[in-house]
Amino acid sequence: MADTTVMEKLVSLCKRRGFIFPGSEIYGGLNGTWDYGPLGVELLRNIKNAWWHDNVTSREDIVGLDSAILMQRTVWQASGHENNFTDPLVDCKTCKSRFRADQIPESQCPRKPSKHPGEFGECQLTEARKFNLMFKTFVGPIEENATQVYLRPETAQGIFVNFKNVVDSTRIKVPFGIAQIGKSFRNEITPKQFIFRSREFEQMEIEFFCHPGSSAEWYQRWRDERFKWYQDLGLKGDKLRLREHAADELSHYSQGTSDVEYLFPWGWGELEGIAHRGDYDLKQHMQFSGKDLTYFDDEKKERFIPHVIEPSAGATRSLLAFLCEAFAEETITDEESGKQDTRTVLRLHPRLAPVKAAVFPLVKKDGMPERAMAIYKDLQKHFAVFYDEKGAVGRRYRRQDEAGTPFCITVDGQTAQDQTVTLRERDSMKQERVGVDRLKGLLLERM
Ligand code: ATP
Repeated sequence: MADTTVMEKLVSLCKRRGFIFPGSEIYGGLNGTWDYGPLGVELLRNIKNAWWHDNVTSREDIVGLDSAILMQRTVWQASGHENNFTDPLVDCKTCKSRFRADQIPESQCPRKPSKHPGEFGECQLTEARKFNLMFKTFVGPIEENATQVYLRPETAQGIFVNFKNVVDSTRIKVPFGIAQIGKSFRNEITPKQFIFRSREFEQMEIEFFCHPGSSAEWYQRWRDERFKWYQDLGLKGDKLRLREHAADELSHYSQGTSDVEYLFPWGWGELEGIAHRGDYDLKQHMQFSGKDLTYFDDEKKERFIPHVIEPSAGATRSLLAFLCEAFAEETITDEESGKQDTRTVLRLHPRLAPVKAAVFPLVKKDGMPERAMAIYKDLQKHFAVFYDEKGAVGRRYRRQDEAGTPFCITVDGQTAQDQTVTLRERDSMKQERVGVDRLKGLLLERM
C-alpha cells in the first residue's frame, strides 16, 4: 500500500467509525481543529490515563497539576515565548498561499504541485518574516493592550509558576516532578498531516526538578524511561527511535535534548521531546515576578535553584502514532462463511483500545439476547463493553476489528446448556470456549 493511501484510509476510517471528525465541519470546517468522536474520545482518554497512571499515581516522586489555560502576559514574556516563539513565514503574492520558510522543501506549490513553492515560474515569494504562534485574546470587555493575554502554547509554564505553591503545600522534596495534561494552542502556519500538526491539541508534560549535581543522570533516566513507555504500549520495532539533538539544534540554555520519534507514513515525526533545561525557567520567573523560587534542602542545609528535566509529549499526536501502528488490512478466510474476505483491523494495545470487549448473541431468539445482555451488564461494571445483536456474526466481528476491540464474546445455543461462550481474540482470530464465570477474570488478566 502506498503511504499516502494508508493515511487516506486511516482518515476515512476515523471519520466513518467516529474516532475523529474535522472541527466545525457542517460550516465548512476550521483548519487545524479536530473533534474526537465516541471512539476517539475513549482512545484519547485511555492514552492520557495510561500516562497519568504510569507517571503520576504509580510513583511517589511526581504530583499532578491542572493549571489555567489563560495566563498573564508576563508569564510568556518571562518564558521567552513573546519574543521567540515564532516560525518564519513566507507569502506567495501570486497564489496568496502561506508557507513556513523552513518547510519549503517539503511543501507543494498549490498551482503546480510537482514543484516546491518558488520553483514554478509564476511564484512570487516574499522574504521570510517572523510570525508568533501564540493566539491572542482579551480578558474583560475592553480590547486593549493592557487586557491582552495569550492562550497557552504549552502546559509547562503553568507548572513553573506553581513550583513554589506545590513545594509549600505538600511534603514532596527535590528530586520530584509536577505533571500536567491539558490543551495547548498554537497558530501553526500550515496545520497538516491530519491531527499531527493542529492549532488546538493536547499535551502531557512533566517538569522534573532535581539538584544540579544529579541532573545529567536524571536526564538519561527520563530519556530511557519515556522511550520505553511508547514501546510498552505497542510502538515497537524500527518505527520508533530516540534521537539526540546535535549541539547546533539545542536552545542556548539546554544541556541536552532527545526526541522520541515515530516513522509516520510520510516520514519521521516527533512524539515527545525530553529536554535538560538547566535552571533557565525558574531563574526567568524569579527575575520577572520578583519571587524567590529557590529550594532549601532541610537535611543538607543547602539553598539552590533546581535544574529541570522536561519530558514533553503530545497526547493527540501520540494518538495518531498509535493509530498508524495499529492499522492493518489483511486477506482472511471469513470465520462464518469460509469465503475470502478483506478485514481492516486496528491492533491497538488492549490498555488503549476504546472498547475492551463486545458481546453478541448468535441469533435474536432462544434466550440468547437475554443471556448476552446479562454478561454485557456484568462486564460493564469493570471496563468498556459493547453489545451488538445486528447482522451476521462475521460482520459484527469485522466491525469490532475496525474499532480495535481486542475481544468478542458470542453467546450461542450451547451457552444455555453448559454456561460457556465463545471468546474470540482480535489479532489471532482464535476462538475458545470459556465458562461465563471465568470471563471477567480472564479478560482482566489478558488486558
Ligand atoms: P514541532 O517541531 O513538531 O512543531 P515542537 O518541537 O515545537 O514540535 P514541543 O514544543 O517540544 O514541540 O511540544 C511538545 C510536544 O507537543 C511535541 O512533541 C508534540 O507531540 C506536541 N505538539 C507540539 N505542537 C503540536 C501541534 N501543533 N499539534 C499537535 N501536537 C503538537
